[in-house]
Amino acid sequence: MSRGVTVPFSCTCGKLGGTLHQIAPDRGNHLKCYCKDCQTAANALGYQETLDEWGGTSIFQTIPKYVELDRGQRHLACLRLSPKGMLRWYASCCSAPLFTMLPYSRIALAGFNMARIAPEDRAAFGPLAGVFSAKGARNAPADLKDWGIPKAFGLVLWRAIKAQLRSDSGAPFFDDKGMPVVTPRVLTLEERTAARPE
Ligand SMILES: [Zn+2]
Ligand SMILES: [Zn+2]
Repeated sequence: MSRGVTVPFSCTCGKLGGTLHQIAPDRGNHLKCYCKDCQTAANALGYQETLDEWGGTSIFQTIPKYVELDRGQRHLACLRLSPKGMLRWYASCCSAPLFTMLPYSRIALAGFNMARIAPEDRAAFGPLAGVFSAKGARNAPADLKDWGIPKAFGLVLWRAIKAQLRSDSGAPFFDDKGMPVVTPRVLTLEERTAARPE
């Protein structure tokens, strides 16, 4: 595995920002997710510009250990589509989506929203390594299909489990007790229905 490089990230307005460490194509998964939940979250935040023309979100799966928040921590906020939904971290200052995570610090996976990376820094993440939930895409060509997923998930899950075995915490997103560092806002059923793409 290569050592990877350090890449800065920022919310859209710039108040919240940080550094991703050990970024390289073989140290995470560069994926595109077309699931309805990611689209619902973008709609609920009023942040559709994070989606591509077919409703897709570019993410890079890494682990929280490699994420450093350098500024604007007080703007870190979290959205859940339902009481048991994924933790969708975003910047409250400008509503920019940041990371999507499983709600367990013990399986510490961070799906980083690639839109938060400056275009000139995106090459470090490598080419797209998979497409997820293509059936959730809007007005997409018929040949848009899922690919690359089993291998991609296997790699990152294995690294997350190893990180846990080394007893890394889920910082900066989880506290010592494994709870999210900010109380997530949970959408009501009405809010979720209203934000859901048809
Ligand atoms: Zn902001
Ligand atoms: Zn998704």
